[in-house]
Amino acid sequence: MSDRNIYLDHSATTPVRPEVIEAMMPYFNQRYGNPSSIYSIGRDSKKAIEEARQTVAGAIGAQPREIFFTGSGTEADNWALKGAALANQQKGKHIITTSIEHHAVLHTCQYLERNGFEVTYLPVDIDGLITPEQVKAAIRPDTILISIMFANNEIGTIQPIAEIGKIAKEKGIIFHTDAVQAMGNVSIDVEGMNIDMLSMSAHKFYGPKGIGVLYVKKGVKQSYFIHGGAQERGRRAGTENVPAIVGMAKALEIAIANMDNYNQKLTALRDRTIREIEEKIPFVKLNGHRKDRLPGNVNFSFDFIEGESLLLLLDMKGIAASSGSACTSGSLDPSHVLLAIGLPHETAHGSLRISFGEENTDADVDYLMEVLPGIVQRLREMSPLYEAHCKQQETQVTV
Ligand SMILES: *Cc1c(COP(=O)(O)O)cnc(C)c1O
Repeated sequence: MSDRNIYLDHSATTPVRPEVIEAMMPYFNQRYGNPSSIYSIGRDSKKAIEEARQTVAGAIGAQPREIFFTGSGTEADNWALKGAALANQQKGKHIITTSIEHHAVLHTCQYLERNGFEVTYLPVDIDGLITPEQVKAAIRPDTILISIMFANNEIGTIQPIAEIGKIAKEKGIIFHTDAVQAMGNVSIDVEGMNIDMLSMSAHKFYGPKGIGVLYVKKGVKQSYFIHGGAQERGRRAGTENVPAIVGMAKALEIAIANMDNYNQKLTALRDRTIREIEEKIPFVKLNGHRKDRLPGNVNFSFDFIEGESLLLLLDMKGIAASSGSACTSGSLDPSHVLLAIGLPHETAHGSLRISFGEENTDADVDYLMEVLPGIVQRLREMSPLYEAHCKQQETQVTV
């Protein structure tokens, strides 16, 4: 085991900022009133929630009344899809999405298919991109919803969201985007981009876990999601998670204020890592678009090895990274995203995702590049496929 501790998995989750913890603390045991209560300690909580709502709205160019707090990004995605499907089914039962969405969207689509809806899963190109023309061509008279992720959590590819939004608007179809990976990394303006619904999650931008937001543009037909009290205007009932809501707003405020610096730093770490892996390790392939990708995302396939073994050996050297997404690892199926960009099963199995964040430095990349080539070589030497490949090369040379 190593005494190093280098976290390179910020797409899975991020540490909570000290300023965020500090902002949250009073709401656990000092300002603990129920926001629905009318006495002053309750009104304090209510006020904190409404201020947070204003901050979140401001970060994406929305109105506060269009912001609904949820229990996670997954919940926001579920609500966006199920809610819009249910409320608009008189108009039609067709939904358009992509084959590389997060499981929060894909599994919800499968659920809707089992309940009478029809879903078109647009294929992506080798870089993980879809084109606005593809979306346009898939639209039918009975299409009620388009759901396309802003940035992919595995390969980092960023979609042409504004152009897709324009098409959806022209055709009068509701447009949802899962912006969980994009928030804090990309400037988002829901008005300018014609986004009708947007999901985000605080723990991906240095806020607490278990709190998300669904933005729903005023006038969009959406059904109520959790029934009970009057919280979130009756649409998502249940006593609010006040500390988490306050923490989310604080984290977002800091993320937006520092976005340019943060992106510059992450892009430099990313591009250096991509360059050095391509220089120092043979038989590799960069997954995702080379330029239109999240600033901190690096995703490579290494021929002849298993991603899981690579992760274990990296972990022994004190490096935390991921193969595919956190939800996919743990199962032996290769990532649906890597298969969708056309990787064969064996190659998809040998993939590594590194996602940089605020605490990372060039020294972390130095260390990564000190250990990674050796680990890859070691694993390849144990691989029968690699041995076969080398034999074949030898015979090609000698004949
Ligand atoms: C993490 C993630 C989610 C799920 O958000 P949770 O808050 O963890 O439930 C959804 N979509 C994308 C793209 C993600 O990266």
